[in-house]
Amino acid sequence: MPRFSQTFLDSVKAANPISDVIGERIALTKNGKNFKACCPFHQEKTPSFYVTPGREIFKCFGCGKGGNVFNFLMEYEGLSFQEAVVKLAERANMPLEGGGSLSEEDRTYMSSRQQRQKRLYQINQAALNFFQRQLALESGKEGAEYLRQRQVSPEAVRAYRLGFAPDSWDDLAVELRSQGFKDEEMIAAGVALPSQEGGGCYNRFRKRVMFPIWDHASNLVAFGGRSIDGSEPKYLNTTETEIYTKSKVLFSLNFAKNAIPQMKKTALLCEGYLDVVMLAQNNFVNAVASCGTSLTQEQAHLIRRFADVCLLAYDGDAAGQKACMRAIPLLTEAGLLVYVVPLKENEDPDSFLKKYGKEAFQELVDKKLSAFTFAMRHFSQEHDMAEIQGRYALCRKMFPYLMTASSEGMRQELIKELSAFANVPVSSINIDLAEYKRAQSGKKERGKRDAEKEENPEIVPKEEEQNGATAAERHLIALLLSFEECMDYVFANLELEAIRNPLPAKLAYNLRDARKEGSWRGVDNYLNSCDELSREFITDVLTLVPLPKDPGRSARSLDASGKAVPFWKNACDDCIRTIKAEHYQEVMSSLDEQMKMTKDPEVLRQLLEKHKIYSQKKREVNRIRTFNSMANESTQEKENDDEQ
Ligand SMILES: [Zn+2]
Repeated sequence: MPRFSQTFLDSVKAANPISDVIGERIALTKNGKNFKACCPFHQEKTPSFYVTPGREIFKCFGCGKGGNVFNFLMEYEGLSFQEAVVKLAERANMPLEGGGSLSEEDRTYMSSRQQRQKRLYQINQAALNFFQRQLALESGKEGAEYLRQRQVSPEAVRAYRLGFAPDSWDDLAVELRSQGFKDEEMIAAGVALPSQEGGGCYNRFRKRVMFPIWDHASNLVAFGGRSIDGSEPKYLNTTETEIYTKSKVLFSLNFAKNAIPQMKKTALLCEGYLDVVMLAQNNFVNAVASCGTSLTQEQAHLIRRFADVCLLAYDGDAAGQKACMRAIPLLTEAGLLVYVVPLKENEDPDSFLKKYGKEAFQELVDKKLSAFTFAMRHFSQEHDMAEIQGRYALCRKMFPYLMTASSEGMRQELIKELSAFANVPVSSINIDLAEYKRAQSGKKERGKRDAEKEENPEIVPKEEEQNGATAAERHLIALLLSFEECMDYVFANLELEAIRNPLPAKLAYNLRDARKEGSWRGVDNYLNSCDELSREFITDVLTLVPLPKDPGRSARSLDASGKAVPFWKNACDDCIRTIKAEHYQEVMSSLDEQMKMTKDPEVLRQLLEKHKIYSQKKREVNRIRTFNSMANESTQEKENDDEQ
């Protein structure tokens, strides 16, 4: 696979302005600094699709899609990343790396994609045979023993073709070489890793029970390896390859798709490979699992291709319940009717089946909660339902769910359920919901309007939450992505735990890790490799969040000790303080709740103590905020004086 250097990718991008490349394919209209058009990725009559030349990104506020010039071409023409790069290099008459124009070899490479893919499937098949064989051998004793202990039946082991990767650095590589596969091919297939010194390669999977992963068309695309001795990571998958994109494959869908039509078109979605195997062993053959990641939009659509109904059987613990809350909107938007199987805390399908058997699991399935009921109960844990404010807050959280009702009659049924649960009159819910609807329909328009507005760094949108992130979180991510030099400052001054919403939190952690490892290559590269939801979020903040402009060296302000203040510092400080204040407030609310619940005077004293500390912290943050804005004003005055 030709790997392109960073410099090459940068120059390809520089030679292909995004507005030109997109403009050659769809009609763009100039709109201030941006261009707009009707989105090529979804049906629409009025334009929500924006191209921002300065930042070299596109963004649709209708369907959410966004990205850089490579992402656009991949999506629009169905190309791989490499193909998109080659296409754009050719467009700009740039010779591919290695000299000359597109060499014969590269041309063959690009056209023999199928040939290459066939080779990867063959390697996977050979590896599968190898892993399966081990279970009967001395080298695979531990694996066989592990499967016995987990009560996986011999029939299930055969049906799922489970296997074992022995505790060895090179047995698989030796075997594959003997069958005529090259080391590069094993590395490209993701079953081996390149050796650091002296070339060659070594096994990616060691001492793991192996779960082969087929795509829905029954192509063997990857493996999931589960550690048997508690070593980390618990699950290790094949690296992403030309034939395997983690976010687009569901484990066992190749089996489940045949069973789903006979099971009232219902799919059973769970978290782990072993859950699926145990469910199938107990006749729930419609079970599938996402491959070691939280559910993606693509996976939701994949389920929809085969099923009308999706039952979520995630772990009963807090993490599992949160994962349910993330999966529900994705599945609903894909057009599935969603239910949750109410597993108790500490239970997953695997453990439940072992303890209580399949009849009990069927009973549990029969007691399934609608997504609406599940969300209602989930949110009610976050609010004080004894207080009128808490009960109304719960209702507000349910509005998005009410909006997805298939008909007005259905909506009124749900409102009745909510009314009874939250003890709020139906009429009040209807009034507030009407208000919410009005605000929502204005929002899409506002998104478009904001994109059309000239950038104005003075205006930082306040508290409003969009895409499940607060304004400060969105602003901070935009700053981090736009000004690499502010990263160290932000990471030194903000505990990332304080970021409440999952998407900005995940991005912040990724950025921090990349910065630490020295692997950060700018937002544009990140867009080439990140998942779709992150890409949508990033393009959203980069299109909408106004950023301070670098005024250049001459105009930097000075702090009290005469040191230059970077132009991004005030904006960063502002975000950090707001995020901290929001975080402290949340901790305090949770402490309040706990204080109400407890009767133990000693516990109460400790909680009060904690509450005091956080309230002090919050005051501190607010005090600095006020102080700083005063200081900034005076600095600015000083600068003005200097000019005169
Ligand atoms: Zn669109």
